[in-house]
Amino acid sequence: MSPTASQAHTGDGRADIPAAAHDGNVYGPALAFRNVSLVFENGTHALDGIDIAIRPHEFVSVVGPSGCGKSTLLRLASGFEQPTAGAVDVAAATLGYVFQEATLLPWRSVLRNVELPAELAGVDRAARRAAAREAIELVGLTGFENHKPAQLSGGMRMRASIARALTGAPEVFLFDEPFGALDEITRQRLNEVVGGLYRRSAFTGVFVTHSVAEAVFMSTRVVVMTGRPGRVAADIAVPLDFPRTPELRYTPEFGEIAATVSAALHDAERAHAPAAGRAA
Ligand code: ADP
Ligand code: MG
Repeated sequence: MSPTASQAHTGDGRADIPAAAHDGNVYGPALAFRNVSLVFENGTHALDGIDIAIRPHEFVSVVGPSGCGKSTLLRLASGFEQPTAGAVDVAAATLGYVFQEATLLPWRSVLRNVELPAELAGVDRAARRAAAREAIELVGLTGFENHKPAQLSGGMRMRASIARALTGAPEVFLFDEPFGALDEITRQRLNEVVGGLYRRSAFTGVFVTHSVAEAVFMSTRVVVMTGRPGRVAADIAVPLDFPRTPELRYTPEFGEIAATVSAALHDAERAHAPAAGRAA
């Protein structure tokens, strides 16, 4: 699909893709970047020759140096941005988008924030309340429906943000470093929350993160990118069973895959560093 003007975005972390997006083979990828390059109008070459095909119900993490085009990749997937070469195909009717900032409206309660996309879409009050309450329960926020964002911890605000995206029943769920600002234990808890949702809802996940451990823990596959212009440096399978428990992080299998991803990330950064070398 080439994103078109009819690809409406609701401005609330959720985008609707027209039914025409369903023209893909059902056995084909849910999301594919086909030889995608993007040069911004100011000449910044953000992405170069990106080829990534993501099958339905894969969960792919993307790691790479700052500024290598990870957010741009997600913006392309959502249709916010157009490639200057190549094509982005999305075979999904609904898209969820969660950002590093929870982007909640401070004057609205958790419940009223979570129901906002449905409210904007004109869903009647009883139905949108029921959907919001279900999403709130799934992210473990039941009991906090009437709290305002300022009364919540950073982790709880992120749970609310995820719940809001969940109400759109995303077939493709995009995460842009959602837990980067949280402490390690909160981050691990939220990794389990998203892992539980992933197993339950069967969405296709694309998860941008700086954390190698998080990438391996969450994913069926990790894509490592080079520095700008971002290219795919490595594509590493994570053949670990689900459900994944916190203890998995201490197993040799996990350590081995994390080491492979780390080495690929270091190689990608080294390959990109100027000849004079670069300080760590
Ligand atoms: P990442 O998420 O990997 O840190 P981004 O995708 O945000 O990187 O950005 C990739 C590069 O493109 C960066 O150098 C960024 O400054 C640049 N960039 C992002 N958006 C724009 C834009 N609209 N116009 C010009 N340059 C941009
Ligand atoms: Mg980014």
